[in-house]
Amino acid sequence: MFVKNKYRLIIPLPVYLRLRAYVEAVDYEISGLGMLTTNEHEYGADFILDEIFLIKQKCSAAETTIAPEGIALLIDELLTTKKDTGHLKLWWHSHGKMDVFWSNVDVLTIKNLTQGKGWMLSLVGNIQGELLARLDVYQTHWMTELNVEVKVHFPIDEVLAEQVRVEVTDKVTEIIFKPKRLWQGGIWNSQPFDEGFPDFGGFPYDNQA
Ligand SMILES: [Zn+2]
Repeated sequence: MFVKNKYRLIIPLPVYLRLRAYVEAVDYEISGLGMLTTNEHEYGADFILDEIFLIKQKCSAAETTIAPEGIALLIDELLTTKKDTGHLKLWWHSHGKMDVFWSNVDVLTIKNLTQGKGWMLSLVGNIQGELLARLDVYQTHWMTELNVEVKVHFPIDEVLAEQVRVEVTDKVTEIIFKPKRLWQGGIWNSQPFDEGFPDFGGFPYDNQA
């Protein structure tokens, strides 16, 4: 199946753990920004979430709104550490124990953020561990892509993988190994890659311990 406009948000494990920690720290909504590296290809793009930040905010059990002062403070902070704030292209927030969806307030926040930046990726999570992402582009008109896959990138533990292969060979008589391409790029994937979707090669985090 030929896949057009395939967008993926890839979250390296350390960033995912930090996100989980923020979400689990409070029962209500909490919100922040993140830095993205974008790898565009002819079918769409992979967005890699390099780092996430919490912004100074007032929180309530209801909707989260992000104040411009909170964003300005974060940008100041990042500039003092010489970070490229042009990469701040992701807005994340949690819904506490509620479902993940895009509320009217969320959509307004996304529109406000996108207008100044051209495009934004948004991510919403909850305490149950669900994640939902969308891409919004504002040029001459609005474009929203709701079908953004979210994947957590787990580095491969080669030593463990080899131990397991040896154990499986020993204990399982009729071995049918899964095709290796499921693990290419080291992306944890509950569904196999779509047939015909090209392999864009290794993942930049694979070589980092
Ligand atoms: Zn929301």
